[in-house]
Amino acid sequence: MDDCLFCKIAAGKIPSKKLFEDDTLLAFYDVDPQAPVHFLVIPKKHIASAACLTEEDAPLLGHIYAVIAQLTKKLGCTGGYRVVTNVGEDGGQSVKHLHFHVLAKRSLAWPPG
Ligand code: AMP
Repeated sequence: MDDCLFCKIAAGKIPSKKLFEDDTLLAFYDVDPQAPVHFLVIPKKHIASAACLTEEDAPLLGHIYAVIAQLTKKLGCTGGYRVVTNVGEDGGQSVKHLHFHVLAKRSLAWPPG
C-alpha cells in the first residue's frame, strides 16, 4: 500500500535496523524500544491488522512465530519474551499494518496497561 509506513519499510524505501528478512517477512528493531530487546516482525504483504487474518494466513503466522523463536534464541533471550500484536484503537494499534512486537530482557508486567 502506497501510504503505509511498514509497506515502505518492507520495500526498503524507508531505512530500518534489520534483524532478518526473507521473501515473506521482515524483522527490524523498534525505533522507540520498550525493553532492552524490542523488535517488530511484519509480513511483507499488506495486512491491516490481526483482525483481517484468514485461514489462508496460517502458514505465514507459523513462519512468523518460528522466526521469532530463532531470533530470540540468537539474541540470547534466555529469560523468555513477550509477543504482542495490537489491534485497532482500543488495542493501541498506531501503524495499520500487521506487526508483532517482541519484547525481552526485562521482567514484563501483567496485566498490561
Ligand atoms: P503499534 O502502536 O502497536 O501500532 O506499534 C507501532 C510500533 O512501530 C511502535 O512501537 C513504534 O515505535 C514503531 N515504529 C514506528 N515507526 C517506526 C520506524 N520507522 N521504524 C521502526 N519502528 C517504528
